[in-house]
Amino acid sequence: MAPLLCALLPLWLAASGFIASGLATPALAEQPAQVQCAKALLDVLWTPDELAGTDADRVIGPVGEPDASVPVLNPGVSLAPRPAAPPKALRGAIRRVVPARGRKVAAITFDLCERANNVAGYNNRIINLLREHDAKATFFAGGKWLRSHPEAALQLMADPRFELGNHAWTHGNLGLMTSAEIDSQLRLTEIQHANLRAELVRRATAKGLEAEALRVPHVLRLMRLPYGRSSELALNTLAERGYLVIQWDVDGEGDEELHSAEVLAKRALARVRPGSIILLHANAVPQKTYEILQRLLPALRARGYELATAGELLRLGPPQSVRRGYFTIPGDNLKYDAIFPGKGTLKPDPARPFTTEPVPPAQ
Ligand SMILES: [Zn+2]
Repeated sequence: MAPLLCALLPLWLAASGFIASGLATPALAEQPAQVQCAKALLDVLWTPDELAGTDADRVIGPVGEPDASVPVLNPGVSLAPRPAAPPKALRGAIRRVVPARGRKVAAITFDLCERANNVAGYNNRIINLLREHDAKATFFAGGKWLRSHPEAALQLMADPRFELGNHAWTHGNLGLMTSAEIDSQLRLTEIQHANLRAELVRRATAKGLEAEALRVPHVLRLMRLPYGRSSELALNTLAERGYLVIQWDVDGEGDEELHSAEVLAKRALARVRPGSIILLHANAVPQKTYEILQRLLPALRARGYELATAGELLRLGPPQSVRRGYFTIPGDNLKYDAIFPGKGTLKPDPARPFTTEPVPPAQ
């Protein structure tokens, strides 16, 4: 680790609440996670059946008219100040962390994407599997997804294994957006998150667990770029608003239609190395994530890997980052600019295909 970054990273993370105290990094199991509220919240606020969810959670809504409605802060709810801008060395799109002494630790991350004209569902089987394995994970939630899946969102917030990050309000392609548009994608998600957190505190207080609920973070500090798309303007805008951009070095579901879950899991495992960040989805859109995760969780542990949240991973070493987002190869995500209209916020309607072809002038 470069000496400057060595000094800056722990200081900024500490100032931003990533580190509760001190700079030591003992075993992750001994550390209070940033969301280390008591598991009592889960046990008291929901029954096991409510936590387990149902098949209906995985139903994806049809593509319809765009929902342009936006959230407002509920009465009595306020937004906490955003963290200070991270130091320059942390302002790229982070794809991996290099843990000290090659410590075998990895972060499994799940996107919860939802665009303006569909509802993306919640794959309850994935979350149940993570809980069975007591596996830590980070969820990058779209703000509109948080609004359309409030009960699942509250459960994720209350679970001490899990951490939430921002995935834009309606999955905007930040590489195509102005600073004001990016800000709106961030802020609307923050408003939805604040309303949900207030609801969690309200319910917990009624059960005598206010202190536990208040330990759930006020602010979202981590960002996942929709489509992996970025720009200098986007990275600078995100940094100014206090966000760290967390991408991945292992795409767990790429070309899932071409391969079995077994092949996808093997491919992901072959790419995992100390400090890896693994990209998966927990909305109901990819079809094979659960089966991939069934294989990944025991295999990672058999290879001696600890699982960390992305926030925890950042404490363990310097990040490797880039200035442009991508899935596996730089530029491989540019195709999404043409596929998803509305600056990435709309799912194409098969009945009315989107085209980038210029419209011929009227005769
Ligand atoms: Zn996404």
